[in-house]
Amino acid sequence: MTMPGTGWQQLRQDEEPHSGAAVVELDATEGLRDWVGQQITHARAAAVAGSPEERWSDAHQRILDDHPYSSDVINPGYGGVGAPFGCVRCHDWDGVTEGRGNCVTVLALAHGYGFDD
Ligand SMILES: [Zn+2]
Repeated sequence: MTMPGTGWQQLRQDEEPHSGAAVVELDATEGLRDWVGQQITHARAAAVAGSPEERWSDAHQRILDDHPYSSDVINPGYGGVGAPFGCVRCHDWDGVTEGRGNCVTVLALAHGYGFDD
């Protein structure tokens, strides 16, 4: 389906993009970053003080803290379609956050905690 007035095409599962089209894939699962934060908190609470599990929980929290999300976004590439949020670090475009949804770092953390992407 072509988005009216944009030239953008949202693909159905078995639909091919127009010839020469740039394909942008987004994971816009709402609340995933918060969910990862909850998993880290649970893992840290269950870890023995000074254990490798505790250190990994701390490392995961530092990584998560380094990838804050913003809902103050512009559509990727000036297009007409984007996610309603993006990662301030990974989706920065000259000081503005593009609405590209969950970033690869948060998706990787989510995968480690059992999110099936
Ligand atoms: Zn990020």
